[in-house]
Amino acid sequence: MILTMTKPLSVFRMLALVAALCILSLYSQVPQPNGANVEPGTLPAKWIAGGPKCMEETEWQIHEYNADLYIVRESGCTHYEKPFLYVIFGDEKVTLIDTGAGQNDIGRVYDLLVAKWLKRRNRSSIKKMVIHTHGHSDHIAGDSQFQNRPDIEFVPFDIPTIQKAFDIKQWPDSIGHLDLGNRNLEIVPIPGHHATDVAFYDKRTGLLLIGDTLYPGRLYVTYWDQFEKSIERIVKFTDGKVITYILGCHIEQTDTPYLEYPIGSFYQPKEHVLELSRGHLLELHSALIGLKGKPTRLAMRDFTIWPLGPAVLDEMRNTRKTVEDRLRTKMWNQTP
Ligand SMILES: [Zn+2]
Ligand SMILES: [Zn+2]
Repeated sequence: MILTMTKPLSVFRMLALVAALCILSLYSQVPQPNGANVEPGTLPAKWIAGGPKCMEETEWQIHEYNADLYIVRESGCTHYEKPFLYVIFGDEKVTLIDTGAGQNDIGRVYDLLVAKWLKRRNRSSIKKMVIHTHGHSDHIAGDSQFQNRPDIEFVPFDIPTIQKAFDIKQWPDSIGHLDLGNRNLEIVPIPGHHATDVAFYDKRTGLLLIGDTLYPGRLYVTYWDQFEKSIERIVKFTDGKVITYILGCHIEQTDTPYLEYPIGSFYQPKEHVLELSRGHLLELHSALIGLKGKPTRLAMRDFTIWPLGPAVLDEMRNTRKTVEDRLRTKMWNQTP
């Protein structure tokens, strides 16, 4: 009798113990919001955006995300693309990601930024590198300022060179690495917007720098099949990782949902913030699944999927010319 009473009780206790362990393990996966053990950083309330008075506007905005990571925005007064560039410092090496659009002096700006960082750190030198998110002209315009400089490790944007520089065994399926010294960037090939797109994941800050593949604006898709696979790949890559912000290279969206600035806009006084989250990536992923392989222009709240083709490129060229011509006449004194 005692035995028969003990048996069901111990089974119950065992079940209770398993349940308790399950709850504990769930709790261990959802820790308190403690910053997720990444280095925090800040983003500015406003970026330079091409005006209102181009005579007063600085050519570059240098924003300190934190002491070892900088975001550099090119002014719309220099080039309507106004790209974002990134400078990341490790203990051994610093890298500039992209070299801007149009006629610019990014070489001088990078040298100055590194010189100030060295002064701040009380150091005399650090190895310098220049790499790219992809090979479009608005990301490589300043390349000639770095090529052939003996103090710079310059990585051109062709796929074999990228693979070698980042140790990407199989393009585009393998993950590459860039060791900057106590800071190992993971590099994910994501072709589709361009043939050479890569994303950079910085574990130290939790930032995912994703180039022109996802940003608040028009996501131009050149190779639809590759784009779909790349989004699938980056969704899987980010699964279970801390992603503080997804940062792209442009803003073309206004701060009104579903509303964008037309291509060619220099001045964007009411632009969307730069930062997106993994939620936006999942939204893009699910939209692509919904389109079932059919390239379609589709506006989401914070970005638009834009498949490219000859007719679309013509449409973009015409819009850009009209907008640029109109804005150029008043770039010295635009209405805020
Ligand atoms: Zn691009
Ligand atoms: Zn671009």
